[in-house]
Amino acid sequence: MTTIYLKPHKEESLKRFHPWVFSGAIARVVLDAAHKAASPEEGELVAVRSAADETLGVGHWQVGSIAVRILAFGVEKLPRDFWRERIRAAYQVREAIGITPSQPSPQGKENNTFRLIHGEGDFLPGLIVDVYAETAVIQAHSVGMHVCRNEIAEAILAEVPQVQNIYYKSDDTLPFKAPVEGEKTGWLVESQKTASLKDKSRSDEFWSVENGLEFRIDWLRGQKTGFFIDQRENRALVERYAKDKDVLNMFCYTGGFSLYALRGGAKTVDSVDVSQKAIDLVNINVARNFPEATNHTAVAADAFEYLTAQKAQGRTYDLIILDPPAFAKHRDAVKNALRGYQRINAKAIEMIRPGGILFTFSCSQAVDKEAFRLAVFSAAAQVGRKVRILHQLHQPQDHPINIYHPEGEYLKGLVLYVE
Ligand code: SAH
Repeated sequence: MTTIYLKPHKEESLKRFHPWVFSGAIARVVLDAAHKAASPEEGELVAVRSAADETLGVGHWQVGSIAVRILAFGVEKLPRDFWRERIRAAYQVREAIGITPSQPSPQGKENNTFRLIHGEGDFLPGLIVDVYAETAVIQAHSVGMHVCRNEIAEAILAEVPQVQNIYYKSDDTLPFKAPVEGEKTGWLVESQKTASLKDKSRSDEFWSVENGLEFRIDWLRGQKTGFFIDQRENRALVERYAKDKDVLNMFCYTGGFSLYALRGGAKTVDSVDVSQKAIDLVNINVARNFPEATNHTAVAADAFEYLTAQKAQGRTYDLIILDPPAFAKHRDAVKNALRGYQRINAKAIEMIRPGGILFTFSCSQAVDKEAFRLAVFSAAAQVGRKVRILHQLHQPQDHPINIYHPEGEYLKGLVLYVE
């Protein structure tokens, strides 16, 4: 195996279990005999050692500022049952949380929708696995994980009782220029049910259950792995506040918050998203769960335009949910993102009736809690409304934050009482 030697003192963060080796920390690379090229291949397993020749761990080599992502600390090679052990450990955490089908969910409702692997949070940097009923969707963010995709699929099949199909969806997440062998998307494991689908591009026959609500998950064409599991607990909180309210679910995607609001007894629910495909799925999901409902409307529209037009007509709401896409994908976009958060929140707060509630979120990792809170505060001050914070929200337990890797914290939200 290729060995990476670090510069003096650069082993310290690894000894504290931070899983990244930056390229600037590397003193020299000793290639193993099998290498033809002058450097390691992207995605290959490498051993990392300190300047004093201590064993630090094994990880995937990457081209870029993060050169190695550590999979196992304190070893020279991966243990034999590595993938099965890691996946078993991650599944045990989900069982402990009570979100797997074998456990009653915290809300006492059936649940078979959960994130099984959350990258660094489950000590598997570069890997995301979401489970939707009998289907697992794997997403690789590194070539190393791409190379291991079949081993990972086998381990999931062996360790997670509900999984029968495994779809691989990494066309948008693998590093842009990386040399990648094999397909970036497609089935890795099929059951009779998927194999018998005439149209392989369809996932229509599949329903996933979150806290007793059924969702059609379009993992083939949908965003991310098909659904935003990370809002599960926050959606349940909306249910608690929804009774007799006029609700606006802005950036609704496939209607997650809308279904919970309907179940919570909302008077009306308006769901808005710029994507017509998402709106079509909202309507399907509402019809499936609330076939009699006449109090739900779904509109494909841009958020800013919708809010401006509704305000001009004097429309107001009791409860608004704002769950926009990440406004800042990189550190250098933070300033603009904060302006964006302020603008959209000001527009929403203006439309809330006195005594109403705003659920507002940011999923930009680069925007921290304090900065987001300041943006929302500025929005409230700008429109001159008195606002109190009722809840501070975050990502759920199946999106754990590795304590040694605080960068894994990304989702934050505020529930505001608007006078
Ligand atoms: N709340 C959702 C997830 C939201 S993801 C859930 O619980 O599942 C963000 C959504 O914002 C995406 O569906 C995307 O299509 C939508 N979006 C992006 N830009 C938008 C815009 N300018 N106006 C309205 N929706 C937008």
